[in-house]
Amino acid sequence: MTSIELVLAPNPGPFTGPGTNTYVIGSGGEALVLDPGPIIPSHLDAIRVALTGALPVGVVVTHTHPDHAPAANGLGTELDVPVYGFAPGDGFEPTDNIEDGSPIPFGSDRLIAVHTPGHTPDHVCFLLGEYLFTGDHIMGGSTVIIEDAAAYMESLQKVANLDPAHLYPGHGPELPEARAVIAEYIAHRVERELQVMAALAAGANNIDDVVDEVYQGIDPALRIAAVFQVHTQLIKLRDEGSVILGSGGADGTTAVRLVEGP
Ligand SMILES: [Zn+2]
Repeated sequence: MTSIELVLAPNPGPFTGPGTNTYVIGSGGEALVLDPGPIIPSHLDAIRVALTGALPVGVVVTHTHPDHAPAANGLGTELDVPVYGFAPGDGFEPTDNIEDGSPIPFGSDRLIAVHTPGHTPDHVCFLLGEYLFTGDHIMGGSTVIIEDAAAYMESLQKVANLDPAHLYPGHGPELPEARAVIAEYIAHRVERELQVMAALAAGANNIDDVVDEVYQGIDPALRIAAVFQVHTQLIKLRDEGSVILGSGGADGTTAVRLVEGP
């Protein structure tokens, strides 16, 4: 009998939605804690309560961002269990390194690690039968910030091929229509890329111009993120030979133009 209990961290915000979803996943009297989140004493108390009656056997981390991983090592030490992660990061050091396909056993079940770079290079989703814990690869209701657009697209296709029935994201509500949600994410990425290309074709010649065109009416607080996202998309297009991108990095003034046709 598998159980999945959501323990919502009290860290809501523009990039975390209602807060980080910590999951306590149980099977046969044993339990894993997935993404214990930031170090917030009341949240750690709530995780301990959710673990009542089960034997903890591991702490698992999807990626090293500060809203997912910082509580992991302390909790692992306190519970005297391994801390599973793909790579070390800010305030996080896995005791057990996992790779794509690594099994993490608990009770009569096991999580299978699915390396899904894109949001970050170290991002891992976890498959449990027909369920997929998606971390920040796919979120419930908020937009994913992407570090590598080409890798992200490949990772979306990778989880589509797993064909999970039900998603448990790192933020927002669980997503029972998994197939439709993943297809929507892929379509959204394709659409964004077309919008960026259309903005360039219409005369945009730096990142600010593209942001103004593609993210019309954007909340000024999110503009830095939009500049970062457009730059990420332009790197993919540059690598594919579609655009010429200046060296200014993720800055609004960085120049960009379409590669001229033959
Ligand atoms: Zn993240």
